[in-house]
Amino acid sequence: MPKFFVSESLYERLRHVALANVDQTCLRLPDGSVISYGGLLEQSRLVASVLVGNGVVQGDRVVTHCEKTPLTLALYLACLQIGAIYVPLNTSYTPTELAYFLDNARPKLYVGGEYLDVVAERGITQLTLDASGSGTLFETAQDANPYEATATQSAEDVAAILYTSGTTGQSKGAMLTHGNLLSNAETLNEIWGFRQDDVLLHALPIYHVHGLFVAVHCVMLSGCSMIFQQKFVVEELLHELPNATVLMGVPTFYTRLLTQAGFDRTRVRNMRLFISGSAPLTEQTFRQFHERTGMEILERYGMSETLMNTSNPLLGERKAGTVGFPLPGVSVRITDDNGNELPNNEIGGIELTGPNVFPGYWRMPEKTAEEFRADGHFITGDMGVKDDEGRISIVGREKDLVISGGLNVYPAEVETAIGDLADVNDVAVIGVPHPDFGEGVVAVVVTDTGEPLDTQRVRGQLKGVLAGFKQPQHVETVAELPRNAMGKIQKNVLRERYQHAFAKGATHA
Ligand code: AMP
Repeated sequence: MPKFFVSESLYERLRHVALANVDQTCLRLPDGSVISYGGLLEQSRLVASVLVGNGVVQGDRVVTHCEKTPLTLALYLACLQIGAIYVPLNTSYTPTELAYFLDNARPKLYVGGEYLDVVAERGITQLTLDASGSGTLFETAQDANPYEATATQSAEDVAAILYTSGTTGQSKGAMLTHGNLLSNAETLNEIWGFRQDDVLLHALPIYHVHGLFVAVHCVMLSGCSMIFQQKFVVEELLHELPNATVLMGVPTFYTRLLTQAGFDRTRVRNMRLFISGSAPLTEQTFRQFHERTGMEILERYGMSETLMNTSNPLLGERKAGTVGFPLPGVSVRITDDNGNELPNNEIGGIELTGPNVFPGYWRMPEKTAEEFRADGHFITGDMGVKDDEGRISIVGREKDLVISGGLNVYPAEVETAIGDLADVNDVAVIGVPHPDFGEGVVAVVVTDTGEPLDTQRVRGQLKGVLAGFKQPQHVETVAELPRNAMGKIQKNVLRERYQHAFAKGATHA
């Protein structure tokens, strides 16, 4: 039987591991206190009791808008236990955004700490949970009796809804089933070699696929422990590294670690694995990291709708600039606009199928239909290429593709070339309206020295590296690139900021 076959519910699997490791540390908190598997399971049963007491039944949505606390994790487990659909929201959402999510998800219960008036206006029951773990959820759970029953659920039942970041339009709720979550968790656990003596350094948010499903599931399926940091603070990460064996991070974790003088081979002596994802890891960062630590970062690729799709190998060559091979059971193809598969080494859209792929967007059947081919392949919206070995490289989001003078310019290629130039610390390449070319290429760079780069000089340095049409027609130097919490560069912000770069009368066009 293949590893990814779903034989029992995700909750049952997690509960079995927890029961087999009741005294083992599951979470180590910043104040040095620990929560055992038995303790976390007990807390989640108390929370399940509170949910049931508030009328939450199987299939109801529970929206969480909470900071990262152990109780937030217990709340997730409680939803799995009773078959409620867990809907975590990014804590930085505004009241208007929260209203949109509440109207779309129509939850039975809201747990959070902010904008309670927006929740109350909609007649939704609310419980509070603040950054210290206090609030009415905690208080009611203290007085509850542990809830013992587990809902009967099939692999097809929805376990969670993750809202996409929605930078180009309406945010969509990706429904993830118990089968999606368990199959992906089992695969990752296996291919990354998780063991009971691992210690995962957890500094990611837990409202996102990376920190919640990838990190937490790998830990909880293997019965190992995690150092649970509420937020990413590079000094704290550095401090805890000697106590950990695995780090899962977004590329920003790695670029920030590289700025720290104390980050060296001694610091990582107990580490066996550094994993990166959620945004592209540059070849420069991969190389610098290797030079500094002697270790190669393992890059993988995934998204809210599909969990993890590909990974570089645990054993075997990890290639900078690639996201590795499709996971067992996942099939990846590169296609033209009509969904026809392209030969190896040709750039096209990334489409995939597998037990990890979501069944659709919550209450948006038309959007779902638009993003699936008739044969069931999901159109990821990412563009990439497969080499002859079967490794996948991502060249950018389809919407970020620049078409200049009718020619395709793939931002990742230009970013890699510019990233190799002296004094360049960070770079994003975007396309903005151009009177002659339709779109013109703009490179937004951060320099080591803070000195601005001259467009003509950059073009001169790229001669022989990149064809003329790929070279930036304008270079803008900034102090910092806008990134979201997952380290993704917000190219829509940059496109808006520089939309007039080539307008008639613009000084630099
Ligand atoms: P999200 O749904 O927020 O997790 O975003 C998913 C998107 O992040 C993917 O569709 C990719 O565009 C991007 N992404 C994730 N992992 C990688 C990676 N390793 N390299 C490049 N882009 C990535």
